[in-house]
Amino acid sequence: MEPQSTISFEDTAVAFSYKSDDALKKARLIFSLVSNSWLSNLVIRSTKFALNAGLPVEGLIKKTAFNHFCGGESIEKSERVIRQLGVFNVGTILDYSVEGEKTEIGFDETMREIIRTIEKAWKSTSVPFSVFKITGLASAALLEKIHRKDQLSAAEQLAWEKVRLRVNTICHKAFTCQIAILIDAEESWIQQPIDNLACEMMMKYNRERAIVFNTYQLYRTDALGSLRGAFEHAVSRNYILGAKLVRGAYMERERERAATMGYTSPIQPDKEASDRAFNQALEFCVNNISRISIVCGSHNEYSNQYLTTLMKTHAMTNHDERVWFAQLYGMSDNITFNLARRGYLVAKYVPYGPVHAVMPYLFRRASENTSVTGQSNRELVLIKKELRRRKKQKN
Ligand SMILES: Cc1cc2nc3c(=O)[nH]c(=O)nc-3n(C[C@H](O)[C@H](O)[C@H](O)COP(=O)(O)OP(=O)(O)OC[C@H]3O[C@@H](n4cnc5c(N)ncnc54)[C@H](O)[C@@H]3O)c2cc1C
Repeated sequence: MEPQSTISFEDTAVAFSYKSDDALKKARLIFSLVSNSWLSNLVIRSTKFALNAGLPVEGLIKKTAFNHFCGGESIEKSERVIRQLGVFNVGTILDYSVEGEKTEIGFDETMREIIRTIEKAWKSTSVPFSVFKITGLASAALLEKIHRKDQLSAAEQLAWEKVRLRVNTICHKAFTCQIAILIDAEESWIQQPIDNLACEMMMKYNRERAIVFNTYQLYRTDALGSLRGAFEHAVSRNYILGAKLVRGAYMERERERAATMGYTSPIQPDKEASDRAFNQALEFCVNNISRISIVCGSHNEYSNQYLTTLMKTHAMTNHDERVWFAQLYGMSDNITFNLARRGYLVAKYVPYGPVHAVMPYLFRRASENTSVTGQSNRELVLIKKELRRRKKQKN
């Protein structure tokens, strides 16, 4: 399954062309910090303490980690990043990353904000998708109850109807504007109602093309089966399957919960098994591309390369609109910008929101970069390589 060397992600001049020397030096500092788990934990703990104590650290966070990983504090304030990426044919997926207010009012407000991202996408040529998490629109406790097939009280039933209405309002808006919308995948113990809702929306809005995309986490042992099942359902009901493929972000939490509660972990036994499943999912999707549209959400160089090889084998053009590549803003620019330069359709998830509200997102990025072996080191190697190249060029 070795990919022919169709595309290289080594060109750091391309990868960081949108970053100034100053921005690159800040990135070097950030990745040096997070690649050291001891230091990273210390920074995370002190930042949490400072924020809880009301110390004025927001300015510093904004100038460093926030600027590196986020677009801005609002859609309007993310405009600079949208344009900057757009210059290099990299799309922006505005990811409203405010986690917190878990009230009906908060859920309605989140729904309105997601709709604003769709309106932004409709007006902009550089915003190809919108995205949302169901937990921004529904309480996790309610989702868990539905996942377990528990009996709902009348109040819970009403709350669930409101969730369905919110999801439909968003997807209907996306359909009206013809902007594709991604539904993120979350923890396995709340995922079934998310999958059911996504399926319902796809049946409604994906008749001619994929507007709604559900997410498949290939670190789950049942994910390939789910993907195949979703495809068969789409064929039998005559709609296009929208599939965002990711490995999965909640591995530690999933394993801990399974161990504590004494059930078999839903996660693949090792990294190789997740990698294998992910690449098989890519293969399955490209083999059935006439009825599936995909977003490959990954920072894994092999998987991205493998997808380009599959496209070539199936005589697809690089810019076939049924295949998108996506990475997170502030990470794996070498993949994003080298793909874009070769004409592939590629976009960044660009989180945005007030600094204090996106902190959980930033903490997750910090611990992910620490725990995912090699990722921050890889970033660091590339950033250092580019800084050296620029220095040499100036001399
Ligand atoms: C655009 C985009 C959208 C995303 N959307 C979602 C989403 O909706 N839901 C979600 O859960 N995540 C999402 N993610 C995060 C994603 O799931 C991964 O956590 C992250 O991208 C790292 O995986 P990778 O494919 O980039 O590759 P790598 O860095 O090669 O792989 C790391 C991943 O491999 C898996 N892994 C690592 N060690 C093991 C092990 N010992 N056993 C089994 N598996 C292992 C884990 O999933 C880990 O995150 C998204 C990522 C991107 C780029």
